[in-house]
This record gives sequence, C-alpha cells and structure tokens, in this order.
Amino acid sequence: MKKTELCYICGAPDALSYFEGRSETISVKGMERRVDNLAGWECKVCGDGFWDPDTDSADRYGEAGDELVLAARKMIGAEMKRIRRKLHLTQKEAVDLLSGGGHNAFSRYERGEVPAPKPLVLLMRFLDRHPHLLADAKALAEGADMRGAFTYTVNNDTEALKAS
Ligand SMILES: [Zn+2]
Repeated sequence: MKKTELCYICGAPDALSYFEGRSETISVKGMERRVDNLAGWECKVCGDGFWDPDTDSADRYGEAGDELVLAARKMIGAEMKRIRRKLHLTQKEAVDLLSGGGHNAFSRYERGEVPAPKPLVLLMRFLDRHPHLLADAKALAEGADMRGAFTYTVNNDTEALKAS
C-alpha cells in the first residue's frame, strides 16, 4: 500500500491516498455496469482523484461508460421505433413529418447510430401519449419548413417570341 501524499489538485497535505481492488457501478437511465478491481488515487479533502496509470482502470472504466451511452441510445432508438409503428408511419413519413434531415435519418435514430435530438424524442413521446394529435401534427407541419417551399418555371423567351 502506497502512503498518503500531498494532493496536488487542491494542495491539502497528506490527503491523497492510494486505493485498489475497488468496484464501482456506473448507471445511465436505469442501466448499470459494474467495473471491478479499480485502482487509483483519491483526495479525502477535495474528493478529486485519478485512476492509476500503471493499471488498465481508466480504460475499463471508460469502456463501461461508452457501452452505457450506446445502450442508452439504443434504448431510446427502440422507443422511437415502437412509437413510429404505433402511429402507422413509415420511416420516410416520420422524416418528412417530424424529424427532417436526410431520408435515412429516422432509421439511424432507431438503430442508435445517432442520438435522436431531444425535441424529437419529446414530440414522439407526446404522440405516444396522445396519438389522436397526429392529424393535428400533419396539418401544422404544412409549410413549417422551407423544404419544398420553392418552385420554379423555366421562362423560354425564344419560344414565346416564336409563338407570337
Ligand atoms: Zn485534494
């Protein structure tokens, strides 16, 4: 066991001590990952600390966190898919009506490849709770963005002259 040292984060003397064999459980949105056998230094005064760079603690802790973020994204993706199906929308209709973005934006949200934007998640949850509002959503979506707002006609002056 290494002895206590001056904390160079907060400056408290004899406050930084070594720990090893620690287990921590990280949780995100009700999902958990347990990481065992962690080692590092922590300060009893400021509470700050760091993983022992001579061990793989930082890597394993980071991987567990990354895994949880992905799992949380997949969980929200599955929720998006369930609600979209409940509303009888295709992915393309969901993009046109609700999310915007590229034609495959919704499938990327549903697969958890990209985190769904919070306003979209909120909107989907509203429609999950009040599915009859989908008709209102369709009416309100008319002209709600600039896509498809422009049309153009080619003015062929030459032909116009010929015709006159
Ligand atoms: Zn400290």
